[in-house]
Amino acid sequence: MTENRRFLLRRRPEGDPARDDFELVSETVPSPPPNGFVVRNHYCSIDPAMRGWMDDEPSYMPPIALGDPVRATTVGIVHASDNPDYPVGQWVIGLNAIEEYSVVTPGHFTAPVDIGAVDSPTRFLTAMGAVSLTAYFGMTDVAKPKPGETLCVTGAAGAVGSVVGQIGKIHGCRVIGIAKGPEKCRRLIDDYGFDIAIDYRGKSIEDLSGEIAKAAPDGLDMVFENVGGPIMEAEMLNLAAHARIVLCGLISEYNADERVGLRNLWQLIVHQATIHGFLIADYAPRFPEGGAKIMEWVGEGRLRIDEDVQEGIENSYDTFMRLFTGANEGKQILKIA
Ligand code: NDP
Repeated sequence: MTENRRFLLRRRPEGDPARDDFELVSETVPSPPPNGFVVRNHYCSIDPAMRGWMDDEPSYMPPIALGDPVRATTVGIVHASDNPDYPVGQWVIGLNAIEEYSVVTPGHFTAPVDIGAVDSPTRFLTAMGAVSLTAYFGMTDVAKPKPGETLCVTGAAGAVGSVVGQIGKIHGCRVIGIAKGPEKCRRLIDDYGFDIAIDYRGKSIEDLSGEIAKAAPDGLDMVFENVGGPIMEAEMLNLAAHARIVLCGLISEYNADERVGLRNLWQLIVHQATIHGFLIADYAPRFPEGGAKIMEWVGEGRLRIDEDVQEGIENSYDTFMRLFTGANEGKQILKIA
């Protein structure tokens, strides 16, 4: 009997997730349900959003139930099927979980993918995946960049942030990236073509605000926010008139026991600025359009998309935590087959 190892949520994390909030169990591989199929997951997308799904709080998706495997987007191959549209051997992408085999029932989000069109199945989680589409629609539809404007992006060396900054450059903007440590800052300039990199490590709001002011003497026309907290407060002190803030993520708060919130909202009034909360799921009908544009830019060598692939389902916890220590170098993926 083939075994199905599954990475379960046993306890809701308080603050930083602990190793024993999770358990790796081994079960037998289920049979396909009527009109459904079973997928052998090869790659799991490891995303900051998973941390929010572990909390029992109102959100855009129900929390992961205790005892269920940790929800994740996966790419894999149909292993057994009762659905003629998904024959055995078909590659698929879907919202499944960190587990070797997932049962897919009719109506569950899943789609076939054309593996012949890419050099690696991981591309469906990176270049053609949600993170690149987040950067694409967050920039083109929400930030709406104009040539000559100044963009500041946080979490800048990460999966979303690195693509955001490059899209800003493609649109003729001046791009400032904020990330942790000299090596990430070097990559922002050398690998992604940003104009200015600011290392936030160990800096007060005042120091950071001063560095942003030096980098953007006329203020920030656009802020693409992935981090929140004190870094965002420093940006808020440097807005240009009518600045647009794309609120994409708040990773600095995901493990916080107490959320501080934004203490200088007044700056929105001063600068007649707007904050726009943004969720990529809203753009699902337009994914083919965004994916095509991203692939065009990648093909032209104008967009670089880095992947950080860790291996082994037994390393699920350590791989997840890389997002919070900042160890990931590009889109975090876990290979489990
Ligand atoms: P990343 O690849 O950017 O990885 C996370 C990065 O966040 C780390 O590398 C680290 O970079 C930074 N980070 C972690 N903890 C902190 C902290 N306390 N303070 C400051 N920075 C921190 O992940 P993604 O690109 O996948 O996601 C980036 C953001 O986008 C997240 O907030 C995520 O929730 C959001 N998102 C939102 C979507 C939407 O639809 N709204 C869709 C997809 C993602 P460093 O070493 O520089 O600190």
